Amino acid sequence: MSDNLFDIRNVSKIYGAEDTGLVALSDYSFEIPAEPARIITIAGESGSGKSTLGELLLRSSPPTRGEILFQGVDIWKFNEAQKREYYRHVQAVFQDPFGVYNPFYRIRHVFDMVVKNYRLATSKQAARDLAEEALNAVGLRGDDVLPKYPHQLSGGQRQRIMIARATMLKPRFIVADEPVSMVDASLRASILDVMMNLRDEYGISFLYVTHDLSTAYQIGDQILLLYQGTVAEHGNAVDVISNPQHPYVQLLIESVPKPDPHDPWPGEVELPAEESFRTASAKGCRFFQRCPKRLSRCETESPERYDVGPGGHQAACFLYEP
Ligand code: ADP
Ligand code: MG
Repeated sequence: MSDNLFDIRNVSKIYGAEDTGLVALSDYSFEIPAEPARIITIAGESGSGKSTLGELLLRSSPPTRGEILFQGVDIWKFNEAQKREYYRHVQAVFQDPFGVYNPFYRIRHVFDMVVKNYRLATSKQAARDLAEEALNAVGLRGDDVLPKYPHQLSGGQRQRIMIARATMLKPRFIVADEPVSMVDASLRASILDVMMNLRDEYGISFLYVTHDLSTAYQIGDQILLLYQGTVAEHGNAVDVISNPQHPYVQLLIESVPKPDPHDPWPGEVELPAEESFRTASAKGCRFFQRCPKRLSRCETESPERYDVGPGGHQAACFLYEP
């Protein structure tokens, strides 16, 4: 039995036929320990496979190859009871905090539904207490938001309410896919603070999907940089961003202002969209065409991840082959 929360083993996700389809995620392995809680940032250009990874963990669709274990059990071999447990422990918060609300119901309804579906409380007062506790954890008060309709709240409030809703189930893990990209820049920091607080006070881990490197730097913990469905580099966010090793990540980070530890909010650092896509039969390093440091073998061989620094800092590049 694994001590990890997740064991992701050689997972690939291919859309379309296995040989000619599009590889959204390529042979990906990663372990997420049960403790301590952590925020794992998944960064990369639009189309690099970030949401695909989140969707695989949310059990939205099965991997094409490989397996995902949750607390040692394959998530696609769950029985009904295990599925129900899983959907309680693994929650999602999405980009658009407005789309998930029914405009005709007050916010109270969002919380009442969760209490009802999961039978979290047996009295009205107990239900109200649970909602209040969850709202307080994200810096809101029940009296201020429960009687309101969705349009009466700011985008930042709506997003915090979604996080509060997820928190009510006392999950182990939250997939937060671009949770701040539709929120005003001035409010982003407060939402990231909420995530860090839930990590520290409630032991909730996050898969934080973003295309904004400055927020990853602010949060710290681990970062994985995806390029065309493969992990180019991973490690501690501060190490990777201040000392990138993969040629792709170096180019990416040279093109953005250096983060200053005394001013951890350099504003928006958006990554461009990927111009090319990749089929399963394609060979070699995905970055070959654009790489300023390419070797001839890179055209036909795919590099593994090699150690490039302390704390599990690794880059998938032959330059670092021992
Ligand atoms: P990101 O979140 O990094 O922008 P995604 O994980 O959404 O990237 O997508 C990775 C790649 O997979 C993209 O090229 C995207 O067009 C493709 N893709 C995603 N979902 C599907 C789908 N359901 N069917 C076909 N292709 C998809
Ligand atoms: Mg996405």
